[in-house]
Amino acid sequence: MSDDHTVQVSGDASTHTYDEGCAERKLTLKDLDAEKITWCPGCGNFGIFIAIKKAILNLGIDPSQFYFVYGIGCHGHMVNFLDVNGFEGLHGRAVPVAVGAKLANSRLKTIVITGDGDCLGEGLNHFVTAARGNQDITVVIHDNQVYGLTTGQTSPTSDKGFKSKSTPQGVIERPVNPLALALTSGATFVSAGFAGDIRQLQTLFEQALTHTGFSLLNVYQPCHTYNKVNTYDWFRDRVYKLDESTHDSSDFHNAVKLAYDPEKLATGVLFQAEHPSYEQDAKLTESIVGKGPNKEALGRLLENFK
Ligand code: SF4
Repeated sequence: MSDDHTVQVSGDASTHTYDEGCAERKLTLKDLDAEKITWCPGCGNFGIFIAIKKAILNLGIDPSQFYFVYGIGCHGHMVNFLDVNGFEGLHGRAVPVAVGAKLANSRLKTIVITGDGDCLGEGLNHFVTAARGNQDITVVIHDNQVYGLTTGQTSPTSDKGFKSKSTPQGVIERPVNPLALALTSGATFVSAGFAGDIRQLQTLFEQALTHTGFSLLNVYQPCHTYNKVNTYDWFRDRVYKLDESTHDSSDFHNAVKLAYDPEKLATGVLFQAEHPSYEQDAKLTESIVGKGPNKEALGRLLENFK
């Protein structure tokens, strides 16, 4: 990332080799690019995008084993930029689509790319329900505290008093706290990162993906076109990395306390716990993908409708 916060997407030398059937293929970051990127220059989405691509290569998993579900918003345009299986559906409905996909094909690494508006406004109940169930998905929130795609209205994470075209006299409500909400809803992996720190984001994304159960990566993502308050500098004055040698990520109450810190923004893994995922609890041990219908059970079911 350069001083003016623009990011060089192409030209990165990171590569990964994986088996694709019999043939060995070398992948580079550029291989994961699809359409030309249309985000505003300097948008925090670039940092998240690069971190995700690097993680895909670094994990050494065939890209066909990932499934991305996108919400509606500037973040959702990633469906056009990332050349990996993806689906973009209705506003706020990315989480239930991901849950369904994961239950149907448990082999997939299923990731939700969503925004603060999409996930915590239109999709709030889905977010809470999936966290309660410890569904085995990873949710990445591009938290820019504004609705960027629709040109800058207040979002659920906008600070109290934030002025926008939808709230010219300032927001009256207090903001939703994504980290605290995830923690108190039952999420078993809760982390935070900053779009200006790609290296840490990559690590956090990899950790979230390898966690069994509901994992959240909330990313502080400047939208410098419509949010002139929560800028790169604003975040740089507040973010700090949790010290892994002293931070106890199994301490739930401390994680809640960190999530509510009014002065500073902790980044890293705030909380992690081992609990059975929804699939494990429900004993859904086999993926239904690739299986034919159970004709006997189907016949018995149809008998009930005669
Ligand atoms: Fe990024 Fe904001 Fe531009 Fe959307 S409007 S692409 S969030 S800078």
